[in-house]
Amino acid sequence: MIVDFPASPLHPISSLELDRAGVRLFLKRDDLIDPHLGGNKWRKLKYNLVQAHEQQEATLLTFGGAYSNHIYAVAAAGKRFGLRTIGVIRGEPSSAANPTLSFARTCGMHLHFVDRAAYRRKHEAEFIAQLRDRFGPHFLLTEGGSNTLALPGCAEIVAELDAQLPSGYDVLATPVGSGGTLAGLASGLVGRTTQALGFAVLKGGQGLVDDVSQLLASAGSAAGQWRIDQNYHFNGYARCNETLFAFIKNFRASTGVQLDPIYNGKMLYGLFDQIRLGAFARGTTLVALHTGGLQGWAGISEKYGLTLGQ
Ligand SMILES: *Cc1c(COP(=O)(O)O)cnc(C)c1O
Repeated sequence: MIVDFPASPLHPISSLELDRAGVRLFLKRDDLIDPHLGGNKWRKLKYNLVQAHEQQEATLLTFGGAYSNHIYAVAAAGKRFGLRTIGVIRGEPSSAANPTLSFARTCGMHLHFVDRAAYRRKHEAEFIAQLRDRFGPHFLLTEGGSNTLALPGCAEIVAELDAQLPSGYDVLATPVGSGGTLAGLASGLVGRTTQALGFAVLKGGQGLVDDVSQLLASAGSAAGQWRIDQNYHFNGYARCNETLFAFIKNFRASTGVQLDPIYNGKMLYGLFDQIRLGAFARGTTLVALHTGGLQGWAGISEKYGLTLGQ
C-alpha cells in the first residue's frame, strides 16, 4: 500500500499589508496535495492507514457530520487504498444527497445515519460494540481523525518546510478544530524557536488547550512552543458573517488562493488582523498552513444561501 504524496508546495504571499508590517508570509499548500484526499485530514489519516494495513484491517469505520471533511477524506482514502469504509453520520438519511455524502457514497462508503442522541454516544464502549456487531471487525477512527497516530503525519509538514525554507521561520499558523493538527505541528517543532500558532475556529476555551496537551501527552510526544488564539472563531463552528466572506473574496482576488470559510478563512483573517495590530516584529517570517477543506463550501452555501465558493 503506497501512502505517500510529494511535499505540498510553499507559495509566498505578497500584499501591501505585509510590506507595511515588514513581515513575510508563505502559504504551505496542503490544499494542493490531492483534489480529494488533500489537506490536513490526509495528514492525520496517513499513519492510521499504515496501522490499519499492518493490522490487516480491511474496513475503516468513522464518525462525522453531514458535511464533514473527515468523512470525505476517509471515503476517498478507502477508494484509493482498497479499504471498505463505513461512515456513522450525525443527521437524517435525506442528507445523503448532499455533495459531501454523495461523493462519499461514490467512493463506496456505507453511510449509517444516527440521531444526535445516538451520535453523542460515539465514545461509549456499548455503542461501539453495537457497531462492531452490525458492521463486523474494523479499524476505528475518532471523529475528525485526531488520535495519537494523527500527530506524526502532521509533523511531516515541519520536515517538508525544512527543505523548502532552509533559513527557517518564526511562526507556523494553522486553524484549530479538534487540535490534532496543532498538536502534530508542535510535536514536529521540538527544540526550535518557531512557534506553532493555532487559530480556534470554534468556542473551545480552555478545553481546546487541554485537548492539544492531552493529545501530545497520550502520544508520548514532546512539544515545541505552541499557543491558541481564540479571538477569531466568528461566534462558533461553521458560523460565518459578511466580514468573513468579504475577507475570503478579497484574499482570492489579491492572491488567487481560494480559502474555505470554516477553517482557513478564519485563520487567515485572524493572522492578517494580528499583523495589522503589530503583533509580529518587523523581519518576522510567517508560514500559514492551508489545510484544504474547500468541499466544505457546500454546507456553508446551503446554510447562508450563497453561490458555491462565493
Ligand atoms: C478538520 C480541519 C481542520 C482542523 O484540524 P484539527 O486537527 O481538527 O484541529 C482544519 N482545516 C480543515 C480544512 C479541516 O478539515
